Amino acid sequence: NDTVLIVGAGHAGFQVAVSLRQAKYTGRIVLINDEKHLPYQRPPLSKAYLKSGGDPASLMFRPEKFFHDQTIELISDRAVAIDRAAKTLLLGSGEKMEYGHLVLATGARNRQLDVPNATLGDVLYLRTLDESEQVRQRMPEKKQVVVIGAGFIGLEFAATARGKGLEVDVVELAPRVMARAVTPEISNYFHDRHTAAGIRIHYGVRATEIAGEDGRVTGVSLSDGRTLPADLVVVGVGVIPNVELAAAAGLPTASGVIVDENLLTEDPNISAIGDCSLFNSVRFGEVMRLESVQNATDQARCVAARLTGDTKAYDGYPWFWSDQGDDKLQIAGLTAGFDQVVIRGSVAERSFSAFCYKDGQLIGIESVNRAADHVFGRKILPLGKSITPEQAMDVSFDLKKAMA
Ligand code: FAD
Repeated sequence: NDTVLIVGAGHAGFQVAVSLRQAKYTGRIVLINDEKHLPYQRPPLSKAYLKSGGDPASLMFRPEKFFHDQTIELISDRAVAIDRAAKTLLLGSGEKMEYGHLVLATGARNRQLDVPNATLGDVLYLRTLDESEQVRQRMPEKKQVVVIGAGFIGLEFAATARGKGLEVDVVELAPRVMARAVTPEISNYFHDRHTAAGIRIHYGVRATEIAGEDGRVTGVSLSDGRTLPADLVVVGVGVIPNVELAAAAGLPTASGVIVDENLLTEDPNISAIGDCSLFNSVRFGEVMRLESVQNATDQARCVAARLTGDTKAYDGYPWFWSDQGDDKLQIAGLTAGFDQVVIRGSVAERSFSAFCYKDGQLIGIESVNRAADHVFGRKILPLGKSITPEQAMDVSFDLKKAMA
């Protein structure tokens, strides 16, 4: 059976289908997705799409004709069970589909806010196109938003909402923004930028209750006893990987579907990629799960290569971006675990990078409005090359030459 069934048509699932056809795969390819849209991009949902006139077509990877021309079948349904012995996938409609290979690209879902009144109508999330569209449509009639969570999505939304003239409060349990993902230098910069724009950020507090009246949101109560007024609440408190389909089929799962260095589950006929995949990274010598477009698309390419005869351990190099207001943050590498940070460029001029070192070796670069440093990182970090902290700090040191 040369049918490849792909569950999930996000960045990972879509890319497997495309890469298979690019590699001249002639078997049947079916993309199964439970969202009623053509496969689309998620990053604009917390940024450009909210500022736009609301044209979903602008988010689509490709128009419908592309899937037709490439003979990539799209099925709008939910995959509900895998029968590994029979190599079949059961859909919500009751249809049973046979596969030669099954790719799980089920992504992740929003972690729900678990406080009283969290299900009120104006408590919204930003993961899907439908959710973003809801936020986009409601913003013009709202005055005061409380954002719960100062991660990438919360801050991107906060900057957009403030740009549209809303009063914005951000509630964050950690002592700084994006604390799990970036160095304090970058957190401090974005704290300053967001507060200068008039956003109030409240650290070290958690939301304990959504205050409401007649079914409408009126505020958010905090663990320090205060209540912040609000007529809209946007929650960005992380995601939960969608592992249930794999787990119910007896595949090992933890904080993701467990796969080896080739992105294969314990079953040689089932791969798992993207946000749902807990993979064994040969490059970093550890098990990890990443949430980024780079990870989803590079893992998809790796699986497509394997299915067309070119088996290699997954070796993609992590990079990421986040647009917040007028600032572009770009990250190359995994910066967690650094023991030294040096700054290149000028924070005051809003063009700088944090070069992160561990044991004297460069492990990652976080850049703000400084694309050249990011490009440098993406070029030399995967090669295990480094420059000294002194060279990094010296703007007259030529990065281009060091790349050659
Ligand atoms: P997803 O995109 O989550 O797609 C999985 C799909 O599978 C979903 O459509 C889901 O409904 C479907 N599905 C799940 N289970 C089933 C089932 N049983 N049957 C059928 N269908 C199913 N990354 C960056 O690098 N830069 C950014 O700036 C950035 N911004 C972001 C902004 C937002 C608002 C969000 C939400 C994410 C952002 N990301 C960003 C992260 C990036 O979008 C994700 O890492 C990426 O979408 C992961 O792709 P995926 O295909 O693994 O999962």
